[in-house]
Amino acid sequence: MERIVVVGASLAGVRAVQALRTAGFTGELTLIGAERHSPYNRPPLSKSVLRGDDDVTLPGAAELDEKWLLGRAAMRLDTIARVVTVDDGSEVRYDGLVIATGARPRRLADHPAGVHTLRTLDDALALRAALSEGQRRIVVIGGGFVGGEVTSTARSLGHEVTLVDGAAHPMVTALGTQTAQWLGDLHRHNGVNLISGVRVTGFDGTARVTGVRLGDGRVIPADLVVAGMGVVPNTDWLDGSGLTVADGVVCESTLHARGAADIVAAGDVARWPHQLYGNTLVRVEHWANANDQGRVAALNLLAGPDDATPFADVPSFATNAHGARIQIAGLPHLAEESRLVTGAVEDHQFTVGFTRNGVLVGVVAVNSPRDFVRLKRGVAARSAGL
Ligand SMILES: Cc1cc2nc3c(=O)[nH]c(=O)nc-3n(C[C@H](O)[C@H](O)[C@H](O)COP(=O)(O)OP(=O)(O)OC[C@H]3O[C@@H](n4cnc5c(N)ncnc54)[C@H](O)[C@@H]3O)c2cc1C
Repeated sequence: MERIVVVGASLAGVRAVQALRTAGFTGELTLIGAERHSPYNRPPLSKSVLRGDDDVTLPGAAELDEKWLLGRAAMRLDTIARVVTVDDGSEVRYDGLVIATGARPRRLADHPAGVHTLRTLDDALALRAALSEGQRRIVVIGGGFVGGEVTSTARSLGHEVTLVDGAAHPMVTALGTQTAQWLGDLHRHNGVNLISGVRVTGFDGTARVTGVRLGDGRVIPADLVVAGMGVVPNTDWLDGSGLTVADGVVCESTLHARGAADIVAAGDVARWPHQLYGNTLVRVEHWANANDQGRVAALNLLAGPDDATPFADVPSFATNAHGARIQIAGLPHLAEESRLVTGAVEDHQFTVGFTRNGVLVGVVAVNSPRDFVRLKRGVAARSAGL
């Protein structure tokens, strides 16, 4: 391979480039990134950045000395001619391609002014400016990790926050019922008006949002709305490429795009069969996954499909809520059973193990970092006992 193109200049893309250079690839490397910023780190966007801290450094990004096409989006992929067409009409040829285009927030049909989403640095700066305009009535839609963190940060800044979540308890799919119930209570104890089990149907206000309409007929008054309704993978530019796209780029276990020896995908956009879970196709939207997959995908691109290594790391993730640290490893939603392993829910310090056919498939830990490390090892080892 003489020319490798990486599309998506964020965590997975940067880690791919670093791995290629470290592995001795001396050919031409081009990074195409739709954002105008140099690569940065997203987790602070819902936490410290909203509180006024500007540090979003992504370690390793500044040292890269590659050909950057920043502020340029890939529009089309021709897998036969091996060409990526960019939004200025230029064509970039490749021998090997890394797809690392991540995901973007899901939106309702129309978003009047005052309705924010949070994915990019520009989104975070706009939200921060809105939060600094004085005390606001904020409605956060969606109790997932971004919605939950924005809720927690906004409360710590003294805003009035209503959190509307479609599920019975926030993050119930990721955390299981017991921990999700605890999280709901934690939000309430911290002054959040939590409305569960109701969907948002639209917004009031034409020039600016004035309220959020709920499926049960209620309207919640709002000066500011943050829509945290999950993400969709950025795969539009792959339409017509012949690659298999179904909720992400469908890959082999080695992260090669299905049927393509010269294309790999990594990070939030990749969906691959996970060997720890009976080759169930999974897509993981977390930092550690993009960080590790970027590297492995790039090395597998160089190695070729026959000599490539399957990616089977245990997914893991952490989030903060009102000062509590919640860590998740594995895929708790695949479990048939769960039980408390250590601690007590009422002490805000506990771990829960999740099993399927007697095998540990996931673990959730609240304020229990040491127990989390031990139990995560059990998930990796497909441990039978807790
Ligand atoms: C607010 C927030 C907080 C988070 N907090 C945590 C956390 O605490 N812990 C955790 O584990 N994870 C967290 N995450 C998730 C984590 O940041 C993501 O999993 C990670 O950024 C995924 O990296 P990626 O490189 O796959 O994709 P992304 O970071 O989404 O990057 C993809 C890049 O590709 C670009 N792109 C898209 N389409 C094109 C195109 N056609 N052409 C060129 N470029 C394109 C995009 O503009 C983007 O820059 C958080 C995410 C957000 C948004």
